[in-house]
Amino acid sequence: MAMHEFSVMQEVIRVVKESAQDEGIDTVEKIKLTVGELSCAHPPALETAFSVLSQDEPLLQHAQLEICQQQVVVRCRECGHREEIGEYEFICRGCGSADLEVLQGEQLSVDEYEGH
Ligand SMILES: [Zn+2]
Repeated sequence: MAMHEFSVMQEVIRVVKESAQDEGIDTVEKIKLTVGELSCAHPPALETAFSVLSQDEPLLQHAQLEICQQQVVVRCRECGHREEIGEYEFICRGCGSADLEVLQGEQLSVDEYEGH
Protein backbone atom coordinates (compact mmCIF):
# COMPACT_ATOMS: atom_id res chain seq x y z
CA MET A 1 0.00 0.00 0.00
CA ALA A 2 1.14 3.52 -0.76
CA MET A 3 2.46 5.11 2.41
CA HIS A 4 1.62 8.64 1.39
CA GLU A 5 -2.08 7.95 1.01
CA PHE A 6 -2.03 5.94 4.22
CA SER A 7 -0.71 8.87 6.25
CA VAL A 8 -3.01 11.31 4.48
CA MET A 9 -5.98 9.15 5.39
CA GLN A 10 -4.83 8.85 9.01
CA GLU A 11 -4.89 12.63 9.17
CA VAL A 12 -8.33 12.80 7.52
CA ILE A 13 -9.72 10.31 10.04
CA ARG A 14 -8.14 12.24 12.91
CA VAL A 15 -9.80 15.47 11.74
CA VAL A 16 -13.20 13.82 11.31
CA LYS A 17 -13.00 12.06 14.69
CA GLU A 18 -12.09 15.25 16.46
CA SER A 19 -14.91 17.17 14.85
CA ALA A 20 -17.43 14.37 15.42
CA GLN A 21 -16.51 14.32 19.09
CA ASP A 22 -17.12 18.07 19.35
CA GLU A 23 -20.47 17.75 17.56
CA GLY A 24 -21.63 14.72 19.56
CA ILE A 25 -21.76 12.57 16.42
CA ASP A 26 -21.24 8.83 16.95
CA THR A 27 -21.95 7.49 13.47
CA VAL A 28 -20.38 8.99 10.37
CA GLU A 29 -22.17 8.08 7.15
CA LYS A 30 -20.22 9.95 4.53
CA ILE A 31 -16.92 11.76 4.25
CA LYS A 32 -16.36 14.02 1.28
CA LEU A 33 -12.77 14.70 0.32
CA THR A 34 -11.48 17.26 -2.12
CA VAL A 35 -8.31 15.96 -3.75
CA GLY A 36 -6.33 18.26 -6.01
CA GLU A 37 -4.57 16.68 -8.97
CA LEU A 38 -1.26 18.08 -7.68
CA SER A 39 -1.71 16.75 -4.17
CA CYS A 40 0.18 13.53 -5.05
CA ALA A 41 -2.57 11.39 -3.53
CA HIS A 42 -4.30 8.90 -5.80
CA PRO A 43 -7.99 8.28 -5.15
CA PRO A 44 -7.87 4.46 -5.49
CA ALA A 45 -5.03 4.32 -2.94
CA LEU A 46 -6.94 6.69 -0.67
CA GLU A 47 -9.96 4.40 -0.85
CA THR A 48 -7.83 1.38 0.04
CA ALA A 49 -6.26 3.22 2.96
CA PHE A 50 -9.69 4.32 4.14
CA SER A 51 -11.15 0.82 4.09
CA VAL A 52 -8.19 -0.52 6.06
CA LEU A 53 -8.05 2.30 8.62
CA SER A 54 -11.80 2.62 9.16
CA GLN A 55 -12.05 -1.03 10.24
CA ASP A 56 -10.71 -0.11 13.66
CA GLU A 57 -12.90 2.95 14.08
CA PRO A 58 -16.40 2.33 15.53
CA LEU A 59 -17.31 5.84 14.38
CA LEU A 60 -16.64 4.92 10.74
CA GLN A 61 -18.20 1.46 10.45
CA HIS A 62 -20.90 2.77 8.09
CA ALA A 63 -18.96 5.56 6.49
CA GLN A 64 -18.69 5.98 2.74
CA LEU A 65 -15.79 7.86 1.26
CA GLU A 66 -16.58 10.26 -1.55
CA ILE A 67 -13.66 11.74 -3.44
CA CYS A 68 -14.03 14.90 -5.48
CA GLN A 69 -11.06 15.43 -7.75
CA GLN A 70 -10.07 19.01 -8.27
CA GLN A 71 -8.54 20.18 -11.52
CA VAL A 72 -5.37 22.19 -11.60
CA VAL A 73 -5.92 25.88 -12.33
CA VAL A 74 -3.02 28.20 -12.98
CA ARG A 75 -2.52 31.86 -13.74
CA CYS A 76 0.33 33.08 -15.91
CA ARG A 77 2.50 35.70 -14.21
CA GLU A 78 3.55 37.07 -17.60
CA CYS A 79 0.24 37.67 -19.34
CA GLY A 80 -2.39 36.94 -16.68
CA HIS A 81 -3.95 34.15 -18.75
CA ARG A 82 -5.85 31.74 -16.53
CA GLU A 83 -6.69 28.15 -17.38
CA GLU A 84 -7.13 24.58 -16.28
CA ILE A 85 -4.18 22.43 -17.22
CA GLY A 86 -3.06 18.84 -17.13
CA GLU A 87 -0.56 17.70 -14.58
CA TYR A 88 2.52 17.81 -16.78
CA GLU A 89 2.02 20.78 -19.07
CA PHE A 90 3.06 23.77 -17.06
CA ILE A 91 3.28 26.16 -19.99
CA CYS A 92 0.97 29.11 -20.56
CA ARG A 93 -1.11 28.60 -23.68
CA GLY A 94 -1.48 32.35 -23.99
CA CYS A 95 2.19 33.36 -24.23
CA GLY A 96 4.33 30.25 -23.70
CA SER A 97 5.72 31.37 -20.35
CA ALA A 98 6.48 28.75 -17.70
CA ASP A 99 6.09 31.30 -14.90
CA LEU A 100 2.76 30.07 -13.62
CA GLU A 101 1.08 30.50 -10.30
CA VAL A 102 -1.00 27.55 -9.09
CA LEU A 103 -4.42 28.82 -7.99
CA GLN A 104 -6.04 25.48 -7.40
CA GLY A 105 -5.13 21.81 -7.42
CA GLU A 106 -2.75 21.35 -4.48
CA GLN A 107 -5.49 20.96 -1.94
CA LEU A 108 -6.35 17.80 -0.06
CA SER A 109 -8.94 18.35 2.59
CA VAL A 110 -12.15 17.14 4.14
CA ASP A 111 -14.90 18.99 2.32
CA GLU A 112 -17.61 17.92 4.71
CA TYR A 113 -18.94 14.84 6.42
CA GLU A 114 -22.37 13.60 7.38
CA GLY A 115 -23.35 11.74 10.47
CA HIS A 116 -25.58 11.66 13.49
ZN1 LIG B 1 1.03 33.75 -20.37
